[in-house]
Amino acid sequence: MISAEVIAEARARNDLVAFIESNGVQLRRRGSDYVGRCTFHNDTGPSLVVFPRKQYWCCHGACSAGAAKRVGGDVIEFARREYPAACGITKAEIIEAL
Ligand SMILES: [Zn+2]
Repeated sequence: MISAEVIAEARARNDLVAFIESNGVQLRRRGSDYVGRCTFHNDTGPSLVVFPRKQYWCCHGACSAGAAKRVGGDVIEFARREYPAACGITKAEIIEAL
């Protein structure tokens, strides 16, 4: 079980915009937000929207198509999708690596 403090600390340590850019996504400023190509689907977009003030991202494209709620989350959720659990990496290991 990961404590709320550990999660909050991992979030505080990793600026979302910088983290997403360090994963090879080119972000462009649009008003107070950023947009870029989503890495989780074959994006011709930009469908990925990043809200720096909320430290929140979401995909307005194929990832969210048909979903009741837009696919998105915080820096930990982005990392989890970059390194899927299918590779045997746990959420705790992801937070530790951040
Ligand atoms: Zn997407």
